[in-house]
Amino acid sequence: MAPRTFAVVGAGFSGAVMARELAEAGHRVEVFESRPHVAGNCHTERSAEGPMVHVYGPHIFHTQHAHVWDYVRRFGEMVPYVHRVKATTGGRVFSLPVNLLTINQFFGTALDPGGAAALIRSKAEPGESAPSTFEEQALAFVGRELYEAFFAGYTRKQWGVDPAELPASILARLPVRFTYDDSYFNHPWQAIPRHGYTPIVEAILDHPGVSVHLSTPWPGGSFDHVVWTGPIDAWFGHANGRLGYRTLDFEREVRAGDAQGCPVMNYCDADVPWTRITEHKHFAPWEDHAATVLYREFSRLCGEGDVPYYPIRLVKEKEQLLEYVRLAERTPGVTFMGRLGTYRYLDMDVTIHEALGCARAVLSALDAGSPLPTFSVHPLGAA
Ligand code: UDP
Repeated sequence: MAPRTFAVVGAGFSGAVMARELAEAGHRVEVFESRPHVAGNCHTERSAEGPMVHVYGPHIFHTQHAHVWDYVRRFGEMVPYVHRVKATTGGRVFSLPVNLLTINQFFGTALDPGGAAALIRSKAEPGESAPSTFEEQALAFVGRELYEAFFAGYTRKQWGVDPAELPASILARLPVRFTYDDSYFNHPWQAIPRHGYTPIVEAILDHPGVSVHLSTPWPGGSFDHVVWTGPIDAWFGHANGRLGYRTLDFEREVRAGDAQGCPVMNYCDADVPWTRITEHKHFAPWEDHAATVLYREFSRLCGEGDVPYYPIRLVKEKEQLLEYVRLAERTPGVTFMGRLGTYRYLDMDVTIHEALGCARAVLSALDAGSPLPTFSVHPLGAA
């Protein structure tokens, strides 16, 4: 196959993996990244005080895909790490996700797994039909008391809307367990990169066929094909309005010693303005620092010029998205991929998995002389 010249816009995991795969297949890739660093919102930075900081909020690598686990470890050392989260609600601290300890402490009981399951069953409020909203799902799942204590306030703060307006799929991210297993994730591989995420993404991009242009918004130009990992609506100049995102603000604080004793403390009460506090040094228990860096996290609607984090995807945004999907389908020469390119709430491992799949699809279409894919994964598809 004759080598082609690609532009990849965005140097997060999506763009980096795509660039690498194309370059390894013999193509030439120019990567344009508007920020002064690679790794997108996974970017990590060594703070002047010592701890490694997850600059855009906490990122824990977890996956069930063996090939993704193998892939990241080609580019950096991953240190096994089990994420354990605590939650403050009503002036008391509990273990999250909801597990046997949470249930026994919350209800003042000493139940075994069967007893706890029976208690929660007795509290659950299943609706008449299958739950479709976050609120219905939570009430059917854990009942009103746990829902009010852990989910209602946090979710309202995080998403800025009533949980009755949100899809059930957001809650499905969190397990409920009738054992004392308090791991935040169920996946077999969970880790934090020893030197942070940014060196991993730099290593992925470190290939003679790849040139990276930092602090360089997409300049346009003539390429055989463009892979766009920025917001899909931005490619079209927001012709159908701006897709809604939540953005985050962080209040940074430095203290001596250990401030909260855990990496992430959620604040579930509606009257506490922040959603959670991250104490970064607990992500790297193998390091030792006298100082500690805290990020108090606040969620709000993303405005023009803010960093987009979570796609909102309510009814209005889905209608807008459909318009952009139609435009994209009439735009040859561009593949849209990743969290922003397909406007979906994606974890890092899924991003890598999809980027590898999309690279394969692009390469086989080139081989076959057929049109290149419009999307890594259809934005309105299953996910
Ligand atoms: N959530 C909640 N209470 C919590 C933690 C999470 O209600 O203490 C809900 C909230 O709606 C959140 C979703 O569960 O958006 C997913 O939480 P997760 O911790 O996976 O979010 P992320 O770390 O991706 O922001």
